[in-house]
Amino acid sequence: MIIVMKTGAPRENAQAVSDRLAELGYQVHPIFGVEKTILGAVGDPSLDKVEAREQILGYEGVEEVVFISKPFKFVAKESKAAKSIINVGGVEIGGNEVIMMAGPCTVESESQLMITAEAVAKGGAKILRGGAYKPSTSPYSFQGMGVPGLELLKEAGRRYGMKVITEVMHVRKVEEVAKYADILQIGTRNMQNYELLQEVGTTRIPVMLKRGMTSKLEEWLLAAEYIASKGNEQIILCERGIRTFEPYTRNTLDLAAIPAIRNLSHLPIVIDPSQGTGRREIVPSMSLAAVAAGTDGLLIEVHPDPDHALKDGAQSITIESYNALMPKLVKVAEAVGRRMAEPAVAIG
Ligand code: PEP
Ligand code: MN
Repeated sequence: MIIVMKTGAPRENAQAVSDRLAELGYQVHPIFGVEKTILGAVGDPSLDKVEAREQILGYEGVEEVVFISKPFKFVAKESKAAKSIINVGGVEIGGNEVIMMAGPCTVESESQLMITAEAVAKGGAKILRGGAYKPSTSPYSFQGMGVPGLELLKEAGRRYGMKVITEVMHVRKVEEVAKYADILQIGTRNMQNYELLQEVGTTRIPVMLKRGMTSKLEEWLLAAEYIASKGNEQIILCERGIRTFEPYTRNTLDLAAIPAIRNLSHLPIVIDPSQGTGRREIVPSMSLAAVAAGTDGLLIEVHPDPDHALKDGAQSITIESYNALMPKLVKVAEAVGRRMAEPAVAIG
């Protein structure tokens, strides 16, 4: 950490800070300038760095406390020699192949799910998405089918040869959802539900951690650190759009998060252009842009009849639109040196 003292702050202030830093286990290197004093603190402190920063900020005469290394370690880029590859029952996320995860926002019925699953699998999806427990802004909107929905997902995955990703919303449900899911999805609203993060951290099932809709990259990576610090390092990050002042799109999809995460972490990152835009006609463009920008996968909502979807119909693409998108994605992936599964059947 670097501690910048206020202009004109008396030496005793810097001394008090140095004493506390030394108590915490830091070696302190002061620089006394004409106007300002700067303290460089290095070492392996007893107190968590974020806590230490908070504490030091409260000391008299302190202007600024800056980290020189990241406050997270397991998920930091420096902690691994190469990018992590998450193996989901044979499907590798984070390798050369860009993985398509597609399906309805929410499991609504057997026929809706099976029709969608068959189509997305044929189009090249390796992972089936679908919510059985849905976080809803309104308590009166559909909350998901629960266990019967999970059973349908598992069956659809088995039938069409895909792994399944589905959301878990509560610590009490982790065990139940884990029986059906190949990837546990942590939704944007739960990115800061630290108990839930720790609970999925105790499992050995891959976790997809969505970015909180108002979270900074550092907060997102610290949330991932909660999972990793409990022993589960099978983490996939998912950018799903953040809140901005722009209401035309439901969220503002932050594609710069892809190269930014590459600089900061070894974890793979996937883009969700469905929640990320809220508008079905924008989803294909943003999917192509995400692949061009180096995403490791896409999470896309597809519905056989989006105009009658129980949830997120406006942002769900039709099967036809999905089929038109897949061959274009394959080409963009090739152009940037990546691979993407070819549609299994001729699409016309
Ligand atoms: C979803 O994937 O349908 C969903 C609810 O995602 P988010 O948590 O990003 O809103
Ligand atoms: Mn949705």
